[in-house]
Amino acid sequence: MTRDFKLDDETGRLSALRRYDALDTAPEAPFDMLTDLVRSVLGVPIAAVSLIDADRQWFRSIAGLNASETPRGVSFCAQTITQRRPMIIPDATLDPRFFTNPLVTGDPWIRSYLGIPLETPNGYNLGALCVIDMKPRVFSDNEVGILTTFAKLVMNELDLRQIATSDALTGAMTRRAWVQAAQSEVARSRRHGTDASLIVFDIDHFKQVNDTHGHPGGDTVLRELAHRAFGTLRQGDILGRIGGEEFAILLPATNAEGASQVAERLRNKFTEAPVDLPSGGLRVTASFGISTLNPAITVVSDWLAAADKCLYQAKADGRNRWRSHPDPVALPAAR
Ligand code: GH3
Ligand code: MG
Ligand code: MG
Repeated sequence: MTRDFKLDDETGRLSALRRYDALDTAPEAPFDMLTDLVRSVLGVPIAAVSLIDADRQWFRSIAGLNASETPRGVSFCAQTITQRRPMIIPDATLDPRFFTNPLVTGDPWIRSYLGIPLETPNGYNLGALCVIDMKPRVFSDNEVGILTTFAKLVMNELDLRQIATSDALTGAMTRRAWVQAAQSEVARSRRHGTDASLIVFDIDHFKQVNDTHGHPGGDTVLRELAHRAFGTLRQGDILGRIGGEEFAILLPATNAEGASQVAERLRNKFTEAPVDLPSGGLRVTASFGISTLNPAITVVSDWLAAADKCLYQAKADGRNRWRSHPDPVALPAAR
Protein backbone atom coordinates (compact mmCIF):
# COMPACT_ATOMS: atom_id res chain seq x y z
CA MET A 1 0.00 0.00 0.00
CA THR A 2 1.39 3.44 -0.86
CA ARG A 3 1.40 5.89 1.99
CA ASP A 4 -1.02 8.77 1.88
CA PHE A 5 1.25 11.83 1.40
CA LYS A 6 -0.96 14.12 3.47
CA LEU A 7 -0.10 12.10 6.58
CA ASP A 8 3.53 13.18 6.09
CA ASP A 9 2.80 16.78 5.06
CA GLU A 10 3.33 18.44 8.44
CA THR A 11 3.57 21.93 6.91
CA GLY A 12 0.23 21.50 5.15
CA ARG A 13 -1.26 20.01 8.30
CA LEU A 14 -0.15 22.95 10.43
CA SER A 15 -1.47 25.49 7.97
CA ALA A 16 -4.80 23.62 7.88
CA LEU A 17 -4.82 23.77 11.68
CA ARG A 18 -4.11 27.47 11.54
CA ARG A 19 -6.98 28.01 9.11
CA TYR A 20 -9.34 26.44 11.62
CA ASP A 21 -8.22 29.07 14.13
CA ALA A 22 -9.15 26.64 16.90
CA LEU A 23 -6.08 26.86 19.16
CA ASP A 24 -6.12 28.83 22.42
CA THR A 25 -9.80 29.59 22.10
CA ALA A 26 -12.19 29.93 25.02
CA PRO A 27 -14.09 26.81 26.13
CA GLU A 28 -17.32 26.29 24.22
CA ALA A 29 -20.36 24.31 25.27
CA PRO A 30 -20.73 22.03 22.21
CA PHE A 31 -17.22 20.63 22.66
CA ASP A 32 -17.59 20.30 26.42
CA MET A 33 -20.95 18.56 26.04
CA LEU A 34 -19.38 16.14 23.58
CA THR A 35 -16.46 15.18 25.83
CA ASP A 36 -18.83 14.81 28.80
CA LEU A 37 -21.14 12.63 26.75
CA VAL A 38 -18.28 10.49 25.44
CA ARG A 39 -17.07 9.95 28.99
CA SER A 40 -20.39 8.69 30.23
CA VAL A 41 -21.35 6.71 27.12
CA LEU A 42 -18.02 4.83 27.07
CA GLY A 43 -17.71 4.74 30.84
CA VAL A 44 -14.19 6.18 30.92
CA PRO A 45 -12.67 8.67 33.36
CA ILE A 46 -11.14 10.99 30.72
CA ALA A 47 -12.25 12.17 27.28
CA ALA A 48 -10.58 14.90 25.26
CA VAL A 49 -10.56 16.76 21.97
CA SER A 50 -6.85 17.17 21.40
CA LEU A 51 -5.41 19.38 18.67
CA ILE A 52 -1.80 18.72 17.71
CA ASP A 53 0.16 21.94 17.32
CA ALA A 54 3.81 22.11 16.19
CA ASP A 55 5.19 21.23 19.62
CA ARG A 56 2.24 20.68 21.93
CA GLN A 57 -1.15 19.09 22.16
CA TRP A 58 -3.79 21.58 23.15
CA PHE A 59 -7.16 20.47 24.47
CA ARG A 60 -10.12 22.09 22.75
CA SER A 61 -12.06 20.34 25.47
CA ILE A 62 -11.16 17.84 28.15
CA ALA A 63 -13.42 16.10 30.66
CA GLY A 64 -12.07 14.34 33.73
CA LEU A 65 -8.61 15.92 33.87
CA ASN A 66 -7.41 19.34 34.83
CA ALA A 67 -5.00 20.20 32.01
CA SER A 68 -4.97 22.54 29.05
CA GLU A 69 -1.98 21.25 27.10
CA THR A 70 1.00 18.88 27.18
CA PRO A 71 4.24 18.72 25.19
CA ARG A 72 3.68 17.01 21.83
CA GLY A 73 6.39 14.47 22.62
CA VAL A 74 4.34 12.73 25.32
CA SER A 75 1.01 12.94 23.50
CA PHE A 76 -0.79 9.71 22.58
CA CYS A 77 -2.96 11.68 20.14
CA ALA A 78 0.20 12.84 18.31
CA GLN A 79 0.64 9.15 17.41
CA THR A 80 -3.01 8.76 16.44
CA ILE A 81 -2.73 11.48 13.80
CA THR A 82 0.01 9.59 11.97
CA GLN A 83 -2.64 7.15 10.74
CA ARG A 84 -6.11 7.14 9.23
CA ARG A 85 -7.57 4.55 11.57
CA PRO A 86 -8.35 4.55 15.27
CA MET A 87 -5.43 4.00 17.61
CA ILE A 88 -6.28 1.40 20.22
CA ILE A 89 -4.00 0.81 23.22
CA PRO A 90 -5.45 -1.83 25.57
CA ASP A 91 -2.47 -1.62 27.97
CA ALA A 92 0.11 1.14 27.60
CA THR A 93 2.57 -0.62 29.93
CA LEU A 94 2.86 -3.38 27.31
CA ASP A 95 3.22 -1.04 24.33
CA PRO A 96 6.84 -0.30 23.38
CA ARG A 97 5.82 3.18 22.13
CA PHE A 98 4.34 4.16 25.47
CA PHE A 99 5.61 2.13 28.41
CA THR A 100 8.24 4.72 29.32
CA ASN A 101 5.89 7.65 28.66
CA PRO A 102 5.74 9.94 31.74
CA LEU A 103 1.92 10.02 31.51
CA VAL A 104 2.03 6.22 31.87
CA THR A 105 4.77 5.91 34.51
CA GLY A 106 3.35 8.87 36.45
CA ASP A 107 0.32 11.07 36.78
CA PRO A 108 -2.34 10.53 35.36
CA TRP A 109 -1.13 6.91 35.06
CA ILE A 110 -2.63 6.20 31.65
CA ARG A 111 -3.19 2.48 31.03
CA SER A 112 -5.58 2.32 28.11
CA TYR A 113 -6.33 4.69 25.27
CA LEU A 114 -8.59 4.92 22.24
CA GLY A 115 -8.15 7.81 19.79
CA ILE A 116 -9.91 8.67 16.53
CA PRO A 117 -8.16 11.08 14.14
CA LEU A 118 -9.99 14.35 13.48
CA GLU A 119 -9.63 14.52 9.73
CA THR A 120 -10.45 17.64 7.69
CA PRO A 121 -12.45 17.26 4.46
CA ASN A 122 -9.19 17.57 2.54
CA GLY A 123 -7.34 14.94 4.46
CA TYR A 124 -5.31 16.58 7.24
CA ASN A 125 -5.49 15.17 10.75
CA LEU A 126 -5.82 18.15 13.09
CA GLY A 127 -5.84 16.08 16.23
CA ALA A 128 -7.89 13.35 17.83
CA LEU A 129 -10.92 12.64 19.93
CA CYS A 130 -9.68 10.31 22.61
CA VAL A 131 -10.67 8.44 25.73
CA ILE A 132 -8.29 7.39 28.48
CA ASP A 133 -8.59 4.93 31.32
CA MET A 134 -6.30 4.26 34.28
CA LYS A 135 -6.84 0.53 33.98
CA PRO A 136 -6.19 -1.84 31.07
CA ARG A 137 -9.18 -2.17 28.84
CA VAL A 138 -10.25 -3.86 25.63
CA PHE A 139 -12.32 -1.52 23.48
CA SER A 140 -15.05 -3.33 21.55
CA ASP A 141 -15.79 -2.68 17.88
CA ASN A 142 -19.02 -1.11 19.02
CA GLU A 143 -17.17 1.35 21.27
CA VAL A 144 -14.73 2.20 18.49
CA GLY A 145 -17.75 2.81 16.22
CA ILE A 146 -19.39 5.08 18.78
CA LEU A 147 -16.24 7.14 19.30
CA THR A 148 -15.78 7.37 15.52
CA THR A 149 -19.27 8.87 15.22
CA PHE A 150 -18.51 11.34 18.01
CA ALA A 151 -15.28 12.31 16.23
CA LYS A 152 -17.35 13.17 13.15
CA LEU A 153 -19.54 15.40 15.31
CA VAL A 154 -16.45 17.14 16.72
CA MET A 155 -15.07 17.69 13.23
CA ASN A 156 -18.45 19.02 12.16
CA GLU A 157 -18.35 21.59 14.97
CA LEU A 158 -14.84 22.65 13.97
CA ASP A 159 -15.91 22.92 10.31
CA LEU A 160 -18.94 25.05 11.14
CA ARG A 161 -16.81 27.57 13.00
CA GLN A 162 -14.32 27.68 10.20
CA ILE A 163 -16.97 28.17 7.51
CA ALA A 164 -18.45 31.08 9.44
CA THR A 165 -15.18 32.99 9.58
CA SER A 166 -13.31 31.97 6.48
CA ASP A 167 -13.61 32.73 2.81
CA ALA A 168 -14.62 29.65 0.83
CA LEU A 169 -12.28 30.26 -2.12
CA THR A 170 -9.01 30.98 -0.33
CA GLY A 171 -9.46 29.82 3.26
CA ALA A 172 -8.40 33.30 4.45
CA MET A 173 -10.59 34.98 7.05
CA THR A 174 -13.61 36.89 5.84
CA ARG A 175 -13.31 40.65 6.00
CA ARG A 176 -15.68 40.80 8.92
CA ALA A 177 -13.86 38.18 10.98
CA TRP A 178 -10.49 39.70 10.12
CA VAL A 179 -11.55 43.21 11.16
CA GLN A 180 -12.80 41.80 14.45
CA ALA A 181 -9.50 39.98 15.05
CA ALA A 182 -7.54 43.09 14.07
CA GLN A 183 -9.57 45.28 16.40
CA SER A 184 -8.76 43.07 19.37
CA GLU A 185 -5.10 43.04 18.35
CA VAL A 186 -5.07 46.86 18.30
CA ALA A 187 -6.53 46.88 21.81
CA ARG A 188 -4.15 44.18 23.04
CA SER A 189 -1.02 45.85 21.60
CA ARG A 190 -1.99 49.20 23.05
CA ARG A 191 -2.64 47.66 26.45
CA HIS A 192 0.70 45.85 26.54
CA GLY A 193 2.65 48.43 24.60
CA THR A 194 3.81 45.78 22.11
CA ASP A 195 4.48 46.14 18.40
CA ALA A 196 2.05 45.05 15.75
CA SER A 197 2.17 45.50 12.00
CA LEU A 198 -0.24 45.26 9.14
CA ILE A 199 0.47 44.26 5.55
CA VAL A 200 -2.11 44.71 2.83
CA PHE A 201 -1.53 43.38 -0.63
CA ASP A 202 -3.33 43.59 -3.93
CA ILE A 203 -2.59 41.43 -6.96
CA ASP A 204 -1.07 43.36 -9.86
CA HIS A 205 -3.02 43.66 -13.12
CA PHE A 206 -5.55 41.15 -11.95
CA LYS A 207 -8.22 42.38 -14.37
CA GLN A 208 -5.91 41.24 -17.15
CA VAL A 209 -5.64 37.77 -15.55
CA ASN A 210 -9.43 37.49 -15.58
CA ASP A 211 -9.68 38.87 -19.11
CA THR A 212 -7.10 36.44 -20.48
CA HIS A 213 -7.80 33.32 -18.42
CA GLY A 214 -11.41 33.80 -17.41
CA HIS A 215 -12.86 34.07 -13.95
CA PRO A 216 -11.95 30.44 -13.08
CA GLY A 217 -8.32 31.22 -13.98
CA GLY A 218 -8.46 34.29 -11.74
CA ASP A 219 -9.90 32.18 -8.94
CA THR A 220 -7.06 29.68 -9.28
CA VAL A 221 -4.55 32.51 -8.92
CA LEU A 222 -6.32 33.80 -5.80
CA ARG A 223 -6.38 30.35 -4.24
CA GLU A 224 -2.72 29.67 -5.05
CA LEU A 225 -1.42 33.01 -3.73
CA ALA A 226 -3.42 32.60 -0.51
CA HIS A 227 -1.96 29.11 -0.17
CA ARG A 228 1.57 30.46 -0.59
CA ALA A 229 0.86 33.21 1.92
CA PHE A 230 -0.38 30.68 4.49
CA GLY A 231 2.79 28.67 3.95
CA THR A 232 4.98 31.74 4.48
CA LEU A 233 3.36 33.24 7.56
CA ARG A 234 3.97 32.38 11.18
CA GLN A 235 1.46 30.90 13.49
CA GLY A 236 -0.38 33.79 15.05
CA ASP A 237 -0.28 35.91 11.89
CA ILE A 238 -3.80 36.43 10.59
CA LEU A 239 -4.56 36.44 6.87
CA GLY A 240 -7.84 37.94 5.73
CA ARG A 241 -9.39 38.44 2.31
CA ILE A 242 -10.66 41.96 2.71
CA GLY A 243 -11.70 42.57 -0.89
CA GLY A 244 -11.92 40.73 -4.22
CA GLU A 245 -8.17 40.36 -4.73
CA GLU A 246 -6.98 42.31 -1.72
CA PHE A 247 -5.67 40.66 1.40
CA ALA A 248 -4.61 41.90 4.80
CA ILE A 249 -2.20 40.27 7.21
CA LEU A 250 -2.06 41.09 10.85
CA LEU A 251 1.38 40.52 12.35
CA PRO A 252 1.33 40.55 16.15
CA ALA A 253 4.58 41.41 17.95
CA THR A 254 6.21 42.58 14.73
CA ASN A 255 7.92 45.93 14.16
CA ALA A 256 8.28 47.81 10.88
CA GLU A 257 11.52 46.09 10.00
CA GLY A 258 10.11 42.63 10.71
CA ALA A 259 7.01 43.42 8.68
CA SER A 260 9.05 44.52 5.66
CA GLN A 261 10.94 41.23 5.85
CA VAL A 262 7.64 39.34 5.80
CA ALA A 263 6.43 41.39 2.83
CA GLU A 264 9.65 40.70 0.97
CA ARG A 265 9.35 36.99 1.71
CA LEU A 266 5.78 36.98 0.38
CA ARG A 267 6.78 38.95 -2.70
CA ASN A 268 9.46 36.33 -3.41
CA LYS A 269 7.07 33.42 -2.79
CA PHE A 270 4.61 34.89 -5.29
CA THR A 271 7.18 35.47 -8.02
CA GLU A 272 9.50 32.50 -7.59
CA ALA A 273 7.21 30.06 -9.43
CA PRO A 274 4.45 30.63 -11.98
CA VAL A 275 0.87 29.70 -11.07
CA ASP A 276 -0.29 26.56 -12.90
CA LEU A 277 -3.27 27.25 -15.14
CA PRO A 278 -4.78 24.92 -17.74
CA SER A 279 -3.24 27.14 -20.43
CA GLY A 280 0.23 26.95 -18.80
CA GLY A 281 2.24 28.73 -16.12
CA LEU A 282 1.35 32.33 -15.33
CA ARG A 283 3.67 34.76 -13.57
CA VAL A 284 1.81 36.80 -11.00
CA THR A 285 2.99 39.62 -8.77
CA ALA A 286 1.43 41.69 -6.02
CA SER A 287 2.05 45.05 -4.41
CA PHE A 288 2.24 45.52 -0.66
CA GLY A 289 1.58 48.29 1.82
CA ILE A 290 2.83 48.09 5.39
CA SER A 291 1.76 50.04 8.42
CA THR A 292 3.13 49.58 11.91
CA LEU A 293 0.85 50.37 14.80
CA ASN A 294 1.45 53.73 16.45
CA PRO A 295 -0.37 55.54 19.27
CA ALA A 296 -2.36 57.65 16.80
CA ILE A 297 -4.12 54.53 15.50
CA THR A 298 -7.02 53.41 17.66
CA VAL A 299 -9.38 51.86 15.13
CA VAL A 300 -8.72 49.27 12.45
CA SER A 301 -10.15 51.43 9.66
CA ASP A 302 -7.40 54.04 10.27
CA TRP A 303 -4.79 51.32 10.30
CA LEU A 304 -6.07 49.88 7.02
CA ALA A 305 -6.15 53.35 5.49
CA ALA A 306 -2.51 53.94 6.45
CA ALA A 307 -1.45 50.61 4.93
CA ASP A 308 -3.56 51.30 1.81
CA LYS A 309 -1.74 54.56 1.25
CA CYS A 310 1.55 52.66 1.16
CA LEU A 311 0.01 50.05 -1.14
CA TYR A 312 -0.97 52.75 -3.63
CA GLN A 313 2.54 54.16 -3.42
CA ALA A 314 3.90 50.68 -4.24
CA LYS A 315 1.55 50.50 -7.25
CA ALA A 316 2.59 53.98 -8.37
CA ASP A 317 6.27 53.12 -8.02
CA GLY A 318 5.90 50.24 -10.50
CA ARG A 319 4.18 47.32 -8.63
CA ASN A 320 5.74 44.05 -7.41
CA ARG A 321 7.22 45.86 -4.38
CA TRP A 322 6.36 46.99 -0.87
CA ARG A 323 6.14 50.42 0.69
CA SER A 324 6.03 51.01 4.38
CA HIS A 325 5.12 53.56 7.01
CA PRO A 326 7.08 54.31 9.03
CA ASP A 327 9.84 53.59 6.56
CA PRO A 328 12.06 50.91 8.17
CA VAL A 329 15.22 52.39 6.59
CA ALA A 330 14.59 55.47 8.71
CA LEU A 331 14.65 53.38 11.88
CA PRO A 332 17.81 52.98 13.94
CA ALA A 333 19.65 49.99 12.47
CA ALA A 334 20.44 48.12 15.68
CA ARG A 335 17.52 46.66 17.62
P1 GH3 B 1 -3.67 46.86 -10.16
O1 GH3 B 1 -2.33 46.31 -10.52
O2 GH3 B 1 -3.71 48.33 -10.17
O3 GH3 B 1 -4.18 46.32 -8.87
O4 GH3 B 1 -4.65 46.38 -11.32
P2 GH3 B 1 -5.84 45.37 -11.23
O5 GH3 B 1 -6.20 44.96 -12.60
O6 GH3 B 1 -5.51 44.25 -10.31
O7 GH3 B 1 -6.95 46.29 -10.63
P3 GH3 B 1 -7.88 46.03 -9.41
O8 GH3 B 1 -7.06 45.71 -8.20
O9 GH3 B 1 -8.83 47.17 -9.30
O10 GH3 B 1 -8.64 44.74 -9.93
C1 GH3 B 1 -9.65 44.13 -9.27
C2 GH3 B 1 -10.19 43.02 -10.15
O11 GH3 B 1 -10.32 41.81 -9.40
C3 GH3 B 1 -11.54 43.34 -10.67
C4 GH3 B 1 -12.37 42.11 -10.44
O12 GH3 B 1 -12.92 41.68 -11.63
C5 GH3 B 1 -11.38 41.08 -9.95
N1 GH3 B 1 -11.93 40.22 -8.91
C6 GH3 B 1 -12.41 40.61 -7.72
N2 GH3 B 1 -12.82 39.53 -7.01
C7 GH3 B 1 -12.59 38.42 -7.77
C8 GH3 B 1 -12.83 37.00 -7.58
O13 GH3 B 1 -13.32 36.53 -6.56
N3 GH3 B 1 -12.45 36.17 -8.58
C9 GH3 B 1 -11.89 36.65 -9.72
N4 GH3 B 1 -11.55 35.78 -10.67
N5 GH3 B 1 -11.69 37.97 -9.94
C10 GH3 B 1 -12.04 38.84 -8.98
MG1 MG C 1 -7.76 45.60 -6.11
MG1 MG D 1 -5.14 44.52 -8.28
